[in-house]
Amino acid sequence: MTAILIDGKAIAQDLRANIAKAAADLSQQHGIVPGLAVVLVGADPASEVYVRSKSKAVIDAGMRSFDHKLPDTTSQADLIALIGRLNADKDVHGILVQLPLPDHIDSSVVLNTIDPGKDVDGFHPVNAGRLATGQRALVPCTPYACVLLAKRVHGSLAGLNAVVIGRSNIVGKPLAQLLLAENATVTIAHSKTRDLPGVCRRADLLFAAVGRPEMVRGDWIAPGATVIDVGINRVPGDAGKTKLVGDVAFAEAREIAGAITPVPGGVGPMTIACVILNTLRAACAGAGLPEPQV
Ligand code: NDP
Repeated sequence: MTAILIDGKAIAQDLRANIAKAAADLSQQHGIVPGLAVVLVGADPASEVYVRSKSKAVIDAGMRSFDHKLPDTTSQADLIALIGRLNADKDVHGILVQLPLPDHIDSSVVLNTIDPGKDVDGFHPVNAGRLATGQRALVPCTPYACVLLAKRVHGSLAGLNAVVIGRSNIVGKPLAQLLLAENATVTIAHSKTRDLPGVCRRADLLFAAVGRPEMVRGDWIAPGATVIDVGINRVPGDAGKTKLVGDVAFAEAREIAGAITPVPGGVGPMTIACVILNTLRAACAGAGLPEPQV
């Protein structure tokens, strides 16, 4: 069997069109144009590319983008002062501080100063707590993307066995919480898990968020399972070039799985779409409006 390819690019495009429509309605009916402030400290080329694509996605959706590019010598106090101004700015509904930050800045101290209502990355402990206790929350974009992709395949995730490999605060843990909220039966695996292949073989939904190139082999996957590959790993390719691969050995896995995301073109584009979705959600929540239906 060859798995259905879950086309993250096409699904993200669809979602972005729906977000643009909802943003236009919000502007027409309530005079609110959602705005996202992206803060980049330093000149990391990968971060610059990522920030550019987020800003473009925001503008394409008819929202406002406020970019703040700061030198890598910026002090922690100055960065926190900027966040204070963005917290108070009524045109800014979402704030995103691009990680990693330079070594002299403590990321968690900085992220905790973002107003939880504007925390479109969903990393603030208040949002983590709201998610864990089933309250309306801004949730981290990559796990959100994973769940939306799985729901595209299955509709409802209720009762399905979901295995998440990885327990980071930005992917694995919030992903497990979101799956629980969708009534999946959730197992979180990590580096101390015994018989990881056996655990994975019990999954109807397998999420790999490990950061190890092609670690998940074809024979770890139950026939027909849905595989969502979060990993982005740069490895040596042909002719001295590099290429991107996921945490799943794609060629093997697609012969066993029922549906699978490619890398690139799976979770990545959906993550960007979820950044703008969270900006829209933050704008709605900030105005006391219900969740936007997209
Ligand atoms: P972390 O390094 O923070 O976490 C990795 C997790 O994998 C840890 O919980 C670790 O376990 C677990 N792990 C490591 N080795 C093994 C192993 N041999 N067996 C089982 N579990 C293992 O990574 P992130 O969560 O930040 O990211 C994971 C991947 O997702 C990376 O490839 C990253 O590039 C990618 N990513 C992709 C995004 C996207 O938009 N597509 C966005 C964010 C991340 P333990 O806790 O025990 O150490």
